[in-house]
Amino acid sequence: MAGGWAKDGAVSEQIEASINDELARLKARRQPRGESLTHCAECDEEIPEARRTALPGVKLCIDCMSERDATSAKRGGINRRGSKDSQLK
Ligand SMILES: [Zn+2]
Repeated sequence: MAGGWAKDGAVSEQIEASINDELARLKARRQPRGESLTHCAECDEEIPEARRTALPGVKLCIDCMSERDATSAKRGGINRRGSKDSQLK
């Protein structure tokens, strides 16, 4: 895999953990190419095929995705107030 930025060495695990956390968030948000999961990476809920098709590389079910969005918003992220109803369920 062209993972890019693997760092060897004694980086603080705490820092690394938060970076990984951030990366996971970015990945979940940006939907980089990659395979969609059939089941949520967080809760193992099945991800509907329609959602996987609409969001290539999707890793989370709608519940976990919303939770993540809410968490990011709390951290000063994007405060988007689009109608959730129009999103895939
Ligand atoms: Zn989930």
